[in-house]
Order: sequence, then C-alpha cells, then structure tokens
Amino acid sequence: MIAPRHPVADRWFQVTRVDDDLTVVTEPHVHPFLRANIWHLRGSRRDLVVDAGLGVHSLRQDVPQLFDRDPALVVTHAHLDHMGGAHEFDHCHAHPAEAPHTPAPGTLHGGRLVDALGLRVAYAADFPEFMVDAAPAPGFDPDAYELRPPKRWLPLADGDVIDLGDRRLTVLHLPGHSPGSVALFEPETGALFSGDVVYDLQEGEELLDAIDGANVPDYVDSLNRLADLPVTVVHPGHGEPFGRPRLLELIRAYVGSRTARSRTS
Ligand SMILES: [Zn+2]
Repeated sequence: MIAPRHPVADRWFQVTRVDDDLTVVTEPHVHPFLRANIWHLRGSRRDLVVDAGLGVHSLRQDVPQLFDRDPALVVTHAHLDHMGGAHEFDHCHAHPAEAPHTPAPGTLHGGRLVDALGLRVAYAADFPEFMVDAAPAPGFDPDAYELRPPKRWLPLADGDVIDLGDRRLTVLHLPGHSPGSVALFEPETGALFSGDVVYDLQEGEELLDAIDGANVPDYVDSLNRLADLPVTVVHPGHGEPFGRPRLLELIRAYVGSRTARSRTS
C-alpha cells in the first residue's frame, strides 16, 4: 500500500486547452522527472494523440474524449512516462528501434528507476522513494506498477505522414535521447511535437543523454537537423510549449557543449 502521506488525488489527469484543436493532458501528481505531456490534436477525419503518460491510472476512464474519434496514437519513444498508457489504445505507432512490444520494466521507486533507466545524473540522488505524491485511486499499490506493451504496434519510419484529414504531420526519426525517438512536424503550421528530443530547460539542466540507449553524436545530428527545419512552435514531451528562438538557443547550447566535450576528450 502507498504510504499514508500520499492522499488519493481528486483528479489524476489535468486537461488544458491550448487552442481550438489542441489539448494537453498531464499528471500533476507525478514527479517532474516523469511528468510527461499527452498531446491531443483534433483533425477533420481523425485525431492524433502524441504519447500516453505513465500508465498508473486509466486514461480511457478519466479522459474518454481522447478515444472518441479513432485516434492515431504515436509514442515518441518507449520510456515509461511516454508509453505507460499506450496499452489502452487499439494500436500504437512507434519506431522499431524502440522495441515497444518488449518495453524495459518500469518502476515507481525513485532508486530502482535510476537503475532501470541507467540514469547517470546528479539530481537523481534527490528522487523521492516514490515518483508519485498521491494515489490515483483508493487501494493503489505502487509496487504493482508495470510498463505494459501496447495491444498492437505499427512501425513508423522517417518521412511517414500521419493524415488527420485537414492536418498532415510528417514523422522525423531523431535518435539521440533514445535510438528510436521520433518527432512529428506539421509543415503547414511549423508545429513540432518533439517528445524528449528537445524540451525547455531550467537553469542548470541539460537535455538527457546520460541514460541507457542515448547516443551523443546521434543527438547532435538530430538537433542540427531540427535547426534547419522551419519550426515555429514546439510542443514538447515535458513542460510548456516554446517558440523558434528558444528552440535554437537550446540546440546551440547542447551542440556547443557536446562538441566542446568531444574535442577535449
Ligand atoms: Zn525519455
């Protein structure tokens, strides 16, 4: 049983409208390290859902509007905070390099998570015992958490197009954070759903490449590729959306630091 200091949350998911067609769903009681965005984009013919959250509570039960219109679910990569809820969808699009049908075992224990992910960052020493500060329902047992594979997965390749009717998004394979990380780019608007390839950082933070499966040279190439695309707004895997100037700043900071490091090592 979860410790008594963790109350049952009134609502597990927070749903925020971004514009007429775009909504973001988050899990406020999940530790910020694992608190990922679930994006819901309405198309004229079908909807797109980008990422599926941690999977500790039912999206289908609490946010049924995600499932209304035969959504295409794309998981940007197979880390637990992005594909935990994928098994609730009829299918899941993912890059084969993520092997989404055999995900790494997940855990909500801070210490065990560090080992499970092969995380090599100093701030992981401050992770709490559990990566949630509330229970999603009475009787919730954090020890019973497991990362489940999707019911059916469909392979994505660079250049594939997800067609929603009036909106079309192109799949970009951008390895670095993980081998099969993908982002979705809408050329008509310049919108980019970036997963963990790039997200806004607080002072002192870095994009996460100190984790099993990451590859720094690939990460540099992927970010250089993004810098050349006419991106106007980024809807990231974590945190708030941001515009092109911040995107270029984040790319320059990462590429600069990793290039400097490879010169001195
Ligand atoms: Zn990740």
